[in-house]
Amino acid sequence: MAREASLGTALITGASSGIGAVYADRLARRGYDLVLVARDGERLAKLAETLARDTGVSVDTLRADLTVKSDLAAVEARLRSDQTLSLLINNAGIAAFGGFTELDVEHHDAMAQLNIVALTRLAAAAGANFAARQTGVIVNLASVLALMPDRSGPVYAGSKAYVLAFTESLAAELGPKGVRLQVVLPGATRTEIFDRAGASVDAIPAEYLMEVDAMVDAALVGFDRGELVTIPSLPDIGDWDAFLAARAQLAPNLSRNRPADRYLSAGA
Ligand code: NAP
Repeated sequence: MAREASLGTALITGASSGIGAVYADRLARRGYDLVLVARDGERLAKLAETLARDTGVSVDTLRADLTVKSDLAAVEARLRSDQTLSLLINNAGIAAFGGFTELDVEHHDAMAQLNIVALTRLAAAAGANFAARQTGVIVNLASVLALMPDRSGPVYAGSKAYVLAFTESLAAELGPKGVRLQVVLPGATRTEIFDRAGASVDAIPAEYLMEVDAMVDAALVGFDRGELVTIPSLPDIGDWDAFLAARAQLAPNLSRNRPADRYLSAGA
C-alpha cells in the first residue's frame, strides 16, 4: 500500500494487546514506522511481523517491564535519542478490582509505577526530544474514571486523574515549543484489562462497553482534529465545555490572602 514517508516513527507502550495493539494497527496503516513496547516479547514479535508484512512499515519491538527501572531506562533512552520519533502513545496501564485495604499494597505500588511514574518518565524523554526539534505528539491514556473517582479503586482513579491533569499542564508548557499533547479518556472498553485485574468484562452492562476498535478510531479522529482532551463516549462536547467553564470560574478564588468567611467563626 502507498505510504507517506514523512510521518516518522510512533512508539507505543502496552502494544501487545487491547488499545495499544489497535493503535499499532491503525498507525501502521497510516504509514508510521513503529516501536512496540510491552513485556510479552512473543506477542510483540507476532504483531510486528503481521504489521510489517501487511503494511510495509518498519516495526521494531522493545521487550520491557516498565515497572523495572533498567527496562524503563532503555525505553527512555530510545525516546530521547531516536530522531525519527514523531509520536509517543503512552498507553501501558493496569487496573485493580477489590478493596483498597484488602489488596496487596505491592499491587498499588505497581499500578502507581506503571500508570504514573513510567508514563511521566517516558513523556519527559519524548518531550525533550520533540521540543528540541519543535515537533511531535504525546498521547496519554487516562480514563473517564479520572472524572468519576467514586466508581473505581482509589489508586486507579487517582492515577488517571493524574494523567489528565499532567497532560493539561504539560500541554501549556510544551505547546509553545511545538509539541502537541492529547489525553484520551476511554469509558469501559472491551480488552484484557478486566481479566488481568481479576474481574470479568462480561459483568459490564452492554450499553456501557465500547469495542476497542471503535474506541481507538474515535480517539484518532480527536487526534486528527488536534484535540487536547478526547472523550470518545461523550455525546455532547458542550457538557465538557461546561465542566471547563465551571472549573475556570473557581480559579480566581482558589488562592487568596484570607480564609473564606465561612471558616472565620469557629462555631458556625
Ligand atoms: P490491556 O489489554 O490489558 O493492555 C495493557 C497493555 O499494557 C498490554 O500490552 C500489557 O502488555 C501492557 N503492560 C501491562 N503491564 C506492563 C508493564 N509492567 N510493563 C510494560 N507493559 C505493560 O488493557 P487496555 O484496556 O488496552 O489498556 C490500555 C490503557 O487504556 C491503560 O492505560 C488503561 O488504564 C487504559 N484504559 C482502559 C480502559 C478499558 O476499559 N479497557 C478504560 C479506560 C482506560 P504485557 O502484558 O505484554 O506487558
